[in-house]
Amino acid sequence: MRIARGTASLVRGLRFRLTLSYVLFFSILLVAIGLLFRATLRYGLDADLQATLEEEWGAAKGYLRIERGHPIWVADPRDPEEAYIVERLRHIYMLADAKGKLLESSKLYESIGPDSPQDIVRILAQRKSEFRIRQDAAGTPYLVKVGAVPDDRGRLFFFAIGRSLEANVRTVDHFTRSYFLWVPGLIAAAALLGWLLAGRAVRPLDMVAQAAQRTTGMNLSAPIPRRGADDELDHLIDSFNLMTERLRQSFDQIRQFSTDVSHELRTPLTAIRGQLEVALFTARTDGQYRDAMVNALEDVEKLSSIVRALLLLSQAESGQLVLQKTVLDLSSVVGDVVEQFQIPAEEKGLALSAALEPDILAEADRTQIERLLSNLLSNAMKYTPSGGRVWVRIQRDPEREGWLLLQVEDTGVGIPKQNQPHIFDRFYRVRNPETNKVQGLGLGLSFVAWIVSAHGGTVAVNSEPEVGAKFTVRLPAGSVLATTQPREQVAV
Ligand code: ADP
Repeated sequence: MRIARGTASLVRGLRFRLTLSYVLFFSILLVAIGLLFRATLRYGLDADLQATLEEEWGAAKGYLRIERGHPIWVADPRDPEEAYIVERLRHIYMLADAKGKLLESSKLYESIGPDSPQDIVRILAQRKSEFRIRQDAAGTPYLVKVGAVPDDRGRLFFFAIGRSLEANVRTVDHFTRSYFLWVPGLIAAAALLGWLLAGRAVRPLDMVAQAAQRTTGMNLSAPIPRRGADDELDHLIDSFNLMTERLRQSFDQIRQFSTDVSHELRTPLTAIRGQLEVALFTARTDGQYRDAMVNALEDVEKLSSIVRALLLLSQAESGQLVLQKTVLDLSSVVGDVVEQFQIPAEEKGLALSAALEPDILAEADRTQIERLLSNLLSNAMKYTPSGGRVWVRIQRDPEREGWLLLQVEDTGVGIPKQNQPHIFDRFYRVRNPETNKVQGLGLGLSFVAWIVSAHGGTVAVNSEPEVGAKFTVRLPAGSVLATTQPREQVAV
């Protein structure tokens, strides 16, 4: 069972499949090359034999004379070489008259069998010679050239000479056998080489897999070393390292969030406890009990608002929160929120002002727009030291018809460039001596981002450390903004 599973995973493995593809490709290539060589060899040998037969045909016509229907081979009896040549030419040959009657033929040609009279008549009528391949009874192939030769009176006779193709066939067969005898060995060697090469190619993948297996929430900061080849595997390693880096940041944020939540929850809890203890041990009068209860209730309210915020965000992000859109006069909504912040601003020694273009109508969810502005405003106030200024602006977007622009700007501590891309992430807080003094959960801007995107808008931040921050929200007004005319801005 274990062996079967081992074999199955080996067969499914990338290394095995790479080797198999390589071996298959190599085998097909080897066989194709073998067949091509075989065909070329056969063609070359046959072409040589054709050329030889062509020469012999010319020579035979020189030595053969036909007188009164009888063939006479003219050879100098004193020249043994000439006699030998004529003997060779007559080795495989035949001569027939125009009607197909056989006049003379060699023994070997007889074994091939006579040509049909119709064929002979056709060849003589065309006066053309041609090559053909014939076989004797034993299956030996012959290349034969047939054509017409004239006698002393110009009458045409059918003449054929041939050569055995056996040597050619044997040479080609010999080549084929010895070539294909090597093929299995070559394929085995290719398989071995392929296996080793594939092993080398997939080793870094194993490395990545092992590193991935070793990775836990605790050791995310140890990246896998690059190989330096700058190839696909290095890119994979880069992506993997980037992913673990992002995971590490998320883990850090969650850890930090747990600490922050505990801290945020502990402060009001400790206060409630203190107040209840005071009530229990030192309060004497109804008034003292009442004061302790009122204070405790305020802190309970603080606690439940933290829990509510967490719950709301998780509902928003999981799509359970649905916008209740109505046509709103955003200028007055913004004005109302700014009003509510005037007293806390004064208490902190901040100048809060607003420039509101009137009659900015939009289809939006009132509660969410109020929450959006409250979050931006409370951040501006939290991160601006006393003596600073905060502005709120709402107007039609001068760059985009049918859109409106909501801005909250302050002269506070600002946000360093490298932190700006992350501030809208859930639980993200900038950590530096100035921001550490301020309490928060890193959820306010996550809400802002969610509300803006749920309304189909965008939010951007513009900030210089030590100078201030400006948040710009752009929202589509829906079908209503275009019908109202712009008027003078009103400052409050
Ligand atoms: P928090 O509860 O920490 O304020 P937010 O999500 O509202 O969480 O903001 C995320 C971070 O962005 C803050 O921790 C703070 O560092 C930075 N930030 C937000 N608004 C401002 C601002 N007006 N001025 C400077 N820093 C800001």
